[in-house]
Amino acid sequence: MATNRTFTMLKPDAVEKGHIGAILEKINASGFRIVALKLTQMTTADAKAFYAIHSERPFFGELVEYMTRGPIVAAILEKENAVEDFRTLIGATNPADAAEGTIRKLYAASIGENAVHGSDSDENAAIESAFHFSGREQF
Ligand code: UDP
Ligand code: MG
Repeated sequence: MATNRTFTMLKPDAVEKGHIGAILEKINASGFRIVALKLTQMTTADAKAFYAIHSERPFFGELVEYMTRGPIVAAILEKENAVEDFRTLIGATNPADAAEGTIRKLYAASIGENAVHGSDSDENAAIESAFHFSGREQF
């Protein structure tokens, strides 16, 4: 069932560089309503669980190190066709391949440190949202 919601994280590199405000502004300006929001930090166990699908990939260790090294901004966003439209807004995983004007083109340094996460399906949006937010933190 389409939920019209997606889950995002502004990753540690984006927070370290002071891009929280600019990225949230771009998200709002693109028609997404923020329905949950927090600054938090993932533990190693959190990151391993969140990215379990990538556990056999060669970059998994670096990914867990990166995602746990500092705070992130976690958020749930609402918009018609949220999952697909947000993936379009963030751009390709590798910023070198990301379209002009996308968040990754503007703020990502590399395929590893790529500034922002976006859910890849409605099902994963629901799982990832529940990973970070209780029901009463979602509006
Ligand atoms: N990643 C990486 N090297 C790669 C592919 C991915 O370090 O070759 C990292 C990167 O931070 C990416 C995350 O692992 O955002 C999850 O990978 P996925 O393929 O799901 O990309 P996304 O859905 O984030 O675009
Ligand atoms: Mg992904």
